[in-house]
Amino acid sequence: MLRICEVNRHWSLDGSRGGNGTHFINHSCSPNAFMQILHDHILFLALRDIKPGEEITIDYQQTLHSDDKRCICGARNCRGTINR
Ligand SMILES: [Zn+2]
Repeated sequence: MLRICEVNRHWSLDGSRGGNGTHFINHSCSPNAFMQILHDHILFLALRDIKPGEEITIDYQQTLHSDDKRCICGARNCRGTINR
């Protein structure tokens, strides 16, 4: 799976390469966090309290995958696709 986080117009982080922590963040249609780019750094900010051991999730919204890439996150409001 491609897990690319664009930091700026020159740099992107590839979560599939490991070592940068983004490979621990998965998609959910009902995420507990969101991603923000600030001064060429990727920040993951909580949308609610996250319990120890709970998976950190964000809504990828738009990926390099085709628009019909299925989502099986299990959220009640799952839209069925990863891309919005
Ligand atoms: Zn979903």
